[in-house]
Amino acid sequence: MTTHNQFKFLPGNPSDKTDFNTAQYLIFTADKILVEFIHEKPVLFFQRLPFNASEVRVSSEYLGLVNEKACFTVNIEEDLPTFENFEWVTLRSLITTVEKELFLMLSKARQINFWAENNRFCGKCGTPTESVPSEKAKSCPKCNAIFYPNIYPAIIVAIEKEGKILLAHAKRFKENFYSVLAGFLEVGESFEDCLRREVYEEVGIQVKNINYFGSQAWAFPSSMMVGFTAEWDSGEIQVDDDEISHADWYAPDELPLTPGEYSIAGQLISWFVHKHKKEA
Ligand SMILES: [Zn+2]
Repeated sequence: MTTHNQFKFLPGNPSDKTDFNTAQYLIFTADKILVEFIHEKPVLFFQRLPFNASEVRVSSEYLGLVNEKACFTVNIEEDLPTFENFEWVTLRSLITTVEKELFLMLSKARQINFWAENNRFCGKCGTPTESVPSEKAKSCPKCNAIFYPNIYPAIIVAIEKEGKILLAHAKRFKENFYSVLAGFLEVGESFEDCLRREVYEEVGIQVKNINYFGSQAWAFPSSMMVGFTAEWDSGEIQVDDDEISHADWYAPDELPLTPGEYSIAGQLISWFVHKHKKEA
C-alpha cells in the first residue's frame, strides 16, 4: 500500500502562523483508522470529516505538520456505519503495508488519542480537563493537576546460550509462533531489574552480560519497548505456564515462526542470526 510519496512529518504544537484552512485529519476509532479508497488507492488523510461531527462524540488533538500542512488526529467514540469506498482498518494491519515513517506517525496519533480518551477527566478530583496550549498535556482547571501522555515501558530481551537463542511461545500468540521474552516494568525497578525478574518468572533461568540493544515505541496501546541482549548464566528452562506455554533454545538455522523486522523482537532475532552467520 503506498499512500504518500516523500512523506514528511514534523511533530509540534500549533503556532500563530499555523494555517488551519488547509488542515488534514486522521480519523480513528480506538485502534482502527478510517481509509477511503479512491480509484482503489487508499487515502488516510482527509481534508474534511466525512461525517457530521455533532452527531458523534469526537475528540481531536493537533499532531504537527504533514508535508507542511497542519494535521490533527480525530478520535470518534465508536465505529461509524460503513460508507461506500470507506473502510476501518486496524493500525496493526498497516505495519507491513505503509512506509515506516508514516506508520510511526500513525502510531503516535493512536497513542495521543489513547491518552486524550483516558484523561478527559481529572484523576484526582473528577473535573473535565483542558488542553495545555504549549505542550502535549491536559490540566485540571479546579485542582491544577497535569496529565501527560502515558507511556508504559517494557523490556524485551534476546538471551543466548552456546550459539542458540531462547524463544518462547506465549499463550496469547497464534499457533506455532515464537518470540523473545518481554515484560512490563514495575514501579521502582531499573530495566535490568525488570529483565532479570521477568526472565526468571517466565522461564526460571538467570542471565548475565546484559547489554542495551535499542528501543521502539509500540502503539498497542502505548508502550516503549526497551531491547537488550543477554547471556544465559544458570538454571534449566521451566516455563511459568501462566503466560508462556513452551520455551526452548534454537540454533540460527532451526528457528520457528518469528516476528518480522518491523518489530524490535524481529530485529533482536535477526541480530542473533546475522551474528552467528558471521561466526560460521
Ligand atoms: Zn482536579
